[in-house]
Amino acid sequence: MARPYFRPSIDALVGYKPGEQPKPGEPIIKLNTNENPYSPSPKAIAALSDLAPEALRRYPDPYASLFRRAVSDVLGVPPDWVLVGNGSDDILNIIIRACAEPSRPVVYPSPTYVLYRTLSQLQLAESVEIPYGEDFQLPLEALVAAQGAVTFIATPNSPSGHRVPHSDLRQLASQLEGLLVIDEAYADFAEETALALAQEFDNVVISRTLSKGYGLAGLRLGFAIANPALLTGLYKVRDSYSVDAVAIAVGAAALRDQAYKDDCIAKVRRDRGHLAQALQDLNFKVWPSETNFLLTRPSRGNAEAIYLALKQQNILVRYFKQPGLDDKLRITVGTPEQNAALLSALPALA
Ligand SMILES: *Cc1c(COP(=O)(O)O)cnc(C)c1O
Repeated sequence: MARPYFRPSIDALVGYKPGEQPKPGEPIIKLNTNENPYSPSPKAIAALSDLAPEALRRYPDPYASLFRRAVSDVLGVPPDWVLVGNGSDDILNIIIRACAEPSRPVVYPSPTYVLYRTLSQLQLAESVEIPYGEDFQLPLEALVAAQGAVTFIATPNSPSGHRVPHSDLRQLASQLEGLLVIDEAYADFAEETALALAQEFDNVVISRTLSKGYGLAGLRLGFAIANPALLTGLYKVRDSYSVDAVAIAVGAAALRDQAYKDDCIAKVRRDRGHLAQALQDLNFKVWPSETNFLLTRPSRGNAEAIYLALKQQNILVRYFKQPGLDDKLRITVGTPEQNAALLSALPALA
């Protein structure tokens, strides 16, 4: 019998399981964790090689001023409305640690990003999961009725790809007593963002990342946008030096190169349309997506078998073995060549 080194809640926890990450150099077509298929901006790479040794010798700027100014210039919010984190996962963690505990529940529609549940469990907070409708209509009334200390809405959502209508978000913001966190990890690929709601409502936090739209998942840089009074509470919880000097410099350069990002996003959106059409031609159901991935259901055959057979051929897609998702696959939009390889493998399997 193992000795009880851990809190009972940790022993009981099934840890968050990230998508498979093959070793660099493996000949894998990786369409499973929604990375951008295109390299980060050349200006970001230049910022990386220009980094002075002195920037590494010293502790980083705890307020990441260089990066916050870039956010301010690009998104038109004041710098003191921006809180940086070690990826947006860090932002989500900070919010939950600041707001949730036993008797202060965390609420979200499901299926959505699984990390919300894991982080809530670590805080011993109840996570109230309210199912989406069949075609992902937001269960608005039930979300309001649950009155979470924090309510998370990922929009566009993963793994569905749909964007939650602005009017629903506005209604939630006005009817919730607690925080409304709008996780906009995929906003760069969407038709619309909810950024304005952070300025309109003092209980709204917008969470963004450079992992998806900017092709910088390896950098680990995300940020929150909310009013400074709200951020003051979050600052108490965060680590002072969670964002390193490399991320600050590279992230600022990437953010300032909007032309490059817009070009990558346009390619992904174009190829998302092509991939969706080609999957439909193979009789897959494809849900509307405003992200860089597609949720899809094969008409014949079994999603898990297809996932496994693709993996045999070095093509990784995401399969979720859970009710409501176990007949579907989530496929990241790759380069035209990667998408073509997927599409030539599928007919033999589906
Ligand atoms: C990828 C993703 C994140 C995490 O992004 P990082 O900034 O890489 O931590 C957060 N939320 C959702 C919905 C995501 O899909």
